[in-house]
Amino acid sequence: MKEPEVKSICPPTDSIDLLVGIVLEEDQKDSITFKSERSSILLSDGLKQVQIPPGQNCTLTRSGNHLLLKDNDASFQSSLSVEVLDKSELAPKSGVMFYAMRAGRGFHWQKEIDQTYPGDFEIHIGAKGLIVVNKIDLESYLACVISSEMSSACPKEFAKSQAVAARSWALVFLTDKHPDKPFQICNDDDCQRYQGTTHLLQSSIDAVQDCDGEFLVTKSNHVCAAYYAKSCGGYIDDPKIIFGFDVPGLTATSDAENPIKVDLSKDDQFTAWLDSNESSNCYCSPIFIPEEELPKYLGSVDVASRYFRWQTSTSAEVICKNLRDKFGYKNCFAILAIKFLDRSPSGRYTKAEISVINKDSSQEVITIKTQYSLRALLHETFLYSSAFKAVINENSNSQVEAISFFGAGWGHGVGLCQIGALGMSLSGKSYRDILMHYYPRTEIRKCY
Ligand SMILES: [Zn+2]
Ligand SMILES: [Zn+2]
Repeated sequence: MKEPEVKSICPPTDSIDLLVGIVLEEDQKDSITFKSERSSILLSDGLKQVQIPPGQNCTLTRSGNHLLLKDNDASFQSSLSVEVLDKSELAPKSGVMFYAMRAGRGFHWQKEIDQTYPGDFEIHIGAKGLIVVNKIDLESYLACVISSEMSSACPKEFAKSQAVAARSWALVFLTDKHPDKPFQICNDDDCQRYQGTTHLLQSSIDAVQDCDGEFLVTKSNHVCAAYYAKSCGGYIDDPKIIFGFDVPGLTATSDAENPIKVDLSKDDQFTAWLDSNESSNCYCSPIFIPEEELPKYLGSVDVASRYFRWQTSTSAEVICKNLRDKFGYKNCFAILAIKFLDRSPSGRYTKAEISVINKDSSQEVITIKTQYSLRALLHETFLYSSAFKAVINENSNSQVEAISFFGAGWGHGVGLCQIGALGMSLSGKSYRDILMHYYPRTEIRKCY
């Protein structure tokens, strides 16, 4: 995943409408089924219109450059608008329900679930599959994002902090995240998790209204690209190291109430810190949120697991397969040695050198250069974070057989730590306290 560099965007003076991709070409769908329980839906390609009554499934299937409507003779041009007539106010489960929508693309939690979206839609035929775009105003989008990223059971001060961060992030990345596509941002972890009104509660709508129009603004008077991730594991990272460019307003910092002095870029200090009492005074640690209580606060597609400290292991076969399938080293057969390098200030490895044996018995050294690539390499789907201690097991030929990982945090570790922000809100901190803890070089400004 390559992040676009951050643009300098001035604070807005009014809300905006968004185009959110909810079915992408890479989902490779040739057919899509949806329905609205309460309203009629008007399908139109500019030449032809068909109205679908409430409660009736509507299936559109691609046929060459046309979209065919099931149970109807209608054939539409390659782009179609889907307008919901007599729309209701934004409310839990309001809108159009789409069947089998993909969530968590490419991550270890990928699945297909039915999801309901407010607003109107466009359907396009892309080169690899259908593209469905949801047209929605920013504030409604945010109420849906905060109830998709984490559960609506989270305290209101957490929800408000997540809303201000998500609002700021969205504004900065509207133009650059998906260039040359008929949408501005996608509905998944690549941008922000957006599952429409599927998990929405009135409390999420109220939280967004309470901080309506508020953005994080940097000292140079630009909107902060307010990155966030699930759990930092104890330390927030430097965007320059993780993404390769500076993000004004963001910096490396401890997620502890009373930070201790430690240099996590050093292997020995990281290993000592990983299981120490000092690391457990972080806001994302079980001290602030006991692990048995965490599942009720997580997003519906999150995995109930250990986020602050975790263990897993990966076989050399899986790593070789990843080198062949994900990285294009088609002849990789076995791993002789693997060296993890360049730990970041939060303890995340950002580089690895892998000595491999190819199928023709030749040897080569492969260099992996980002934390994101490392995570894609070291797990069947995606390793939770690259802040880990690795224990390498060898087979009788002195080749790598498997690697055990003892890790900290989930995600890239830049910006707001969602579980830490939850921990802060549960201990009585306000959304302003939370935002100033994670984005200390910004101010909160009401722009409309
Ligand atoms: Zn995206
Ligand atoms: Zn944290």
